[in-house]
Amino acid sequence: MILVMDESTVRDPRKLLPTVAYFSMEIGLDSAIHTYSGGLGILAGDTLRAAADNVIPMVGVTLLYRKGYFRQEISAEGYQIEHPDTWNPADHLEPYDHKVKIHLDGRDVWIQAWRYRIHGVTHGITPVYFLDTDLPENSDYDRTLTDSLYGGDNYYRLCQEVVLGMGGIAMLRSLGIHRIHPYHMNEGHSALLTLALLEEHMGERGLAAATDKDRHAIRQECVFTTHTPVPAGHDQFDMEMTRRVLGAERCAALEASGCCVQGNLNMTSLALTFSHYVNGVAMRHGEISRGMFPHYPIDSITNGVHAAMWTAPPFAEVYNKHLPGWKRDNLYLRHALSIPLAEVREAHRRGKENLLQEVQRRSGVALDPKVFTIGFARRMTGYKRPDLLLSNPDRLRQIAAQVGPFQVLYAGKAHPRDESGKALIHFIHQMSRSLDHQVRLLFIPDYNISLAKLLVSGVDLWLNTPQKPQEASGTSGMKAALNGVPSLSVLDGWWIEGHLEGVTGWSIGEEWDGESSPAQDIEALYRKLETQILPLYYQRPEEYDRLMRAAIAHNGSFFNTQRMMLQYLKNAYYMF
Ligand SMILES: *Cc1c(COP(=O)(O)O)cnc(C)c1O
Repeated sequence: MILVMDESTVRDPRKLLPTVAYFSMEIGLDSAIHTYSGGLGILAGDTLRAAADNVIPMVGVTLLYRKGYFRQEISAEGYQIEHPDTWNPADHLEPYDHKVKIHLDGRDVWIQAWRYRIHGVTHGITPVYFLDTDLPENSDYDRTLTDSLYGGDNYYRLCQEVVLGMGGIAMLRSLGIHRIHPYHMNEGHSALLTLALLEEHMGERGLAAATDKDRHAIRQECVFTTHTPVPAGHDQFDMEMTRRVLGAERCAALEASGCCVQGNLNMTSLALTFSHYVNGVAMRHGEISRGMFPHYPIDSITNGVHAAMWTAPPFAEVYNKHLPGWKRDNLYLRHALSIPLAEVREAHRRGKENLLQEVQRRSGVALDPKVFTIGFARRMTGYKRPDLLLSNPDRLRQIAAQVGPFQVLYAGKAHPRDESGKALIHFIHQMSRSLDHQVRLLFIPDYNISLAKLLVSGVDLWLNTPQKPQEASGTSGMKAALNGVPSLSVLDGWWIEGHLEGVTGWSIGEEWDGESSPAQDIEALYRKLETQILPLYYQRPEEYDRLMRAAIAHNGSFFNTQRMMLQYLKNAYYMF
């Protein structure tokens, strides 16, 4: 949609804005609402928060997940144990009476919605609808469809994606939310919404009669954000199962539109086919995505994080004092350089104290606040290389003994079917035993929003070691920057844009293009720690404070969802 200003809209410009429908398989709003697993869901929550702050008409649509993703326990031997992570929706959400019905594998499946209202930092409110199939009208199996995030087999997953995409459209209609533009697919999971829109558009004419012109009409309504720079990360469903679940007519319509690849329904292809605007989540990720999907124009909008959500209380107090208005307008953070260094130091000291107290409460281990503390928390999986720092334990011992002591806090869940991710957790556990007190490593179980808030504001350095170019964006380093915590990271994802050497943090390796060389990365990581970071922290603490403050000014002011939302408005939603 291209905005046209005339006199009536000059009088009341908000009348002009239609409502954006934001669909996401996961939305992370609060630690107590177990509807997210990690980065994708947190981004979705922060995006919707930014809509509320800026009074942008937007609604969120996702599934309810009564059993959540999973609660992580780590056994005494260092193995991940997964538990259902149940919660009570009625404690947090309002139920709606509206019921809608979708047709799936020859059955009718009824769906109800629960609503959460996000209150922005000013007067905006963004509703989020959580779809629920646990209704007496449904079969026992269908009642479980909105139980588990990323659980179950491929059939379960396809049924969930039908509920999200097609059920989501039916629910928006039933709720009477009109003038929607555009439909924004946050990753491909919700792409079946395009099929529901096509069906609606065709009406009596039927799906079989759809032409390029009809598909073009749907394309004008949809935008798609891709998050996955790895081909294996894209959802696929074999055609036989797809035909069974969706029925012959709908399946034929998907095949006719060209989104079935090598005998599979490919959700990324579906989303690409039916979107007029597509973007990756960092400048580099857009480029990688253009290489993966050369037939589509793919733009980039770099992710952000919600500043008020991720700034811990000690720094929020400092910003309130020196940069009042920062929550409403994050650009004021650019002037963080005006904050006296002593106040930066004191706010960080309090953040660290809060973190170490919680670590002691959870693990019984009292860590020394004077010791340099490194944080590494994110999904535990191969390409993120949580073991890279631990490649050479003798070298770590030697650096700690000769340059200064350091300790490392780890957290993160491995997907229940990611055996190598689970092995990484076990490896960290074993290394923590063999390094003992020379370099303390602590793995804190059950990474979630509340633990993330403490970690990103309480450590002295945020470490990120992905294998290039597999980190689409990464957002936890942005959260750290808002709390003055510099990053030491491979030049991939957002860090290519956020890195100013020795100013906002440090790079591991000099180049951002090409692939990672593990041996070079390890050497670069140890060398930076040994010759630059630890000496700065222990010998020139005032300069370390200066770097913390620069991280806020340069990166906190830019890598937030307020800037990101403005870019979506300009480039994806309304194109002004
Ligand atoms: C921010 C966040 C993530 C994503 O972190 P990345 O750096 O993008 O991997 C995952 N889980 C939780 C709980 C978070 O808060």
